[in-house]
Amino acid sequence: MTTIDRRTPVGHVWLVGAGPGDPDLLTVKAQRCLAEADVVFHDALVAPEVVALAESAQRFSVGKRVGRAPIGQSAIQRLLIRTARRGRRVVRLKGGDPFVFGRGGEEALALGAAGVPFEVVPGLTAAVTAPALADIPVTHRGAASGFVVLTGHDDAASDTLLARMAPGSLTLVVLMGLRRRRQLASRLKRHGWPAATPVAIICDAGTRHADVWRGTLDRLAREPLDLPANAAGTIVVGDVVTVGARIAAARPHTSPSAAGGRSAVR
Ligand code: SAH
Repeated sequence: MTTIDRRTPVGHVWLVGAGPGDPDLLTVKAQRCLAEADVVFHDALVAPEVVALAESAQRFSVGKRVGRAPIGQSAIQRLLIRTARRGRRVVRLKGGDPFVFGRGGEEALALGAAGVPFEVVPGLTAAVTAPALADIPVTHRGAASGFVVLTGHDDAASDTLLARMAPGSLTLVVLMGLRRRRQLASRLKRHGWPAATPVAIICDAGTRHADVWRGTLDRLAREPLDLPANAAGTIVVGDVVTVGARIAAARPHTSPSAAGGRSAVR
């Protein structure tokens, strides 16, 4: 176990959610943390414009990058602890919300165990932001009484859940599911979800590459999708996808002048 030298100044760590990519979708608090930080450790997926807001900080990418070995989770935790112990104000910046499939919980536990003060600064998670930017209300009354957020990686966990829920009763939101989307479609059909269940894939929401695919479970299983290799995509399954298409069609063609930005996915 590490012992803390109480004579050294201890800084702190803000575990900050950066939202889906558009700097307009950062929280005010996240902006303040970035402006005050001495050091930022960010994931590769965080938009460069967001990282750049930490003007006076040293900035390091610690995420997975194509062609470079990722820094392991425990090495990241050691970096956070060591830097804070040097008296620095550290921002650990993650895409979306730090506690939604972000491993923020592990970092918080490690910081706590090391006696390093930390604060969690929530961010807009892709799980609700990506659908919302594509006009999909994940809990539209009459279409879904709730929603569940799953990872596309863990078949065993989602099989357990799917076996217990009535097909179509809740909206499914699947993160990290793009690569295995065909298997997802077959598994849902095996659990009784009709082939015609509406599906949307929202890619790179809140970035200038934002795009949305709309189809059905059947088409998800069969159609090749023309997606960039490194696209981040959120899959939404359920009748709320159809509601989203209705909302998109109902929108008047003029957009509110104050909003601007590049968040919406059309
Ligand atoms: N902590 C993050 C999720 C990390 S898992 C959050 O709360 O948003 C990474 C997955 O999130 C990606 O594989 C993708 O499924 C989803 N994702 C992240 N950014 C996204 C974006 N801009 N648009 C659509 N999906 C996104």
